Amino acid sequence: MSTKKIAVLTSGGDAPGMNAAVRAVVRTAISFGMEIYGIRHGYNGLLTGEVEKMGLRSVSNIIQRGGTSLLSARSPEYNTPEGVKKAADKCRELGIDGVVVIGGDGSFRGARDLTGAGIPCIGVPGTIDNDISSTDFTIGYDTAMNTAMEMIDRVRETSESHDRCSVVEVMGRHCGDIALNTGIAVGAISTLVPEVPFDFEKDVVDRIKEAQATGKQHFIVVVAEGVGGVNEICKKIEAATGIESRATVLGHVQRGGSPTVRDRVIASRMGYHAVELLRDGKSNRVVAMKGEDIVDYDINEALAMPRVFDEKLYQISMDLSR
Ligand code: ATP
Repeated sequence: MSTKKIAVLTSGGDAPGMNAAVRAVVRTAISFGMEIYGIRHGYNGLLTGEVEKMGLRSVSNIIQRGGTSLLSARSPEYNTPEGVKKAADKCRELGIDGVVVIGGDGSFRGARDLTGAGIPCIGVPGTIDNDISSTDFTIGYDTAMNTAMEMIDRVRETSESHDRCSVVEVMGRHCGDIALNTGIAVGAISTLVPEVPFDFEKDVVDRIKEAQATGKQHFIVVVAEGVGGVNEICKKIEAATGIESRATVLGHVQRGGSPTVRDRVIASRMGYHAVELLRDGKSNRVVAMKGEDIVDYDINEALAMPRVFDEKLYQISMDLSR
């Protein structure tokens, strides 16, 4: 049998730990005696031929870096039947018989389509948002939460010095996981997430007033990106409580930075698993974490899974912040 040739790409939004995943895919493939190619700029690179052979040293000195050394892209051209066919033809031309796609749900749809066009693909979940239903953790999520926590700790110091309320928006798009966890970690008086409807008076104003009555003089409110409106929230808090309030939108600082131990290890395990699947002739699978285990699912099954929000953790966040 001829040597298996596989490729790896990163797609959609970058996330810290993607480099660790790329490194794992490259080194695992070489350990298994496969040829491994790196595709730059996501699916775009398949269309434009940005494909190069990787060796052990191609992934040196990247495990500690945020971003993605393979570069990422959103590719509208790929997202068409003609684009997918062109990408599959390119793989055939290069002799690539498997692709590991590191990205979010959109990238997984792309992987499913490429598999349908005859090139076996495996998806690896990489996004800071943790918005992929099939996995408990995505690569980059832990780093983003730690960055958000560290930034809010800084905001807290100035907020405390001036008896202020700081309203901080964290990322996560429609997913409140970053907000929920950082809210607990920074002791936010209130955490607003898109998954839980809230009553502004009861869930923000009353909580601030009750804590104020017991002597608390500075406050942090964490707001998920999917809720937004931090400037408006500040104005309403000031009007209702008289406490000076300042808005901070953390934004893309949460996307960068050196990945945490957890993200590096998860990325390494997932990258390894993805190559094992290709070695074993599997395709159209996504790698996932269930608890602390690495598992895999059919891509269509994974995309259809409902997202589960941790209601208990939300209750804990509310009960502890007083
Ligand atoms: P993140 O959510 O972290 O940004 P993502 O992978 O969901 O990651 P998208 O921009 O949705 O990001 O998708 C990345 C790329 O995947 C798209 O630019 C496109 O090339 C491809 N893609 C997305 N959806 C599809 C689809 N339905 N069919 C084929 N390809 C797709």
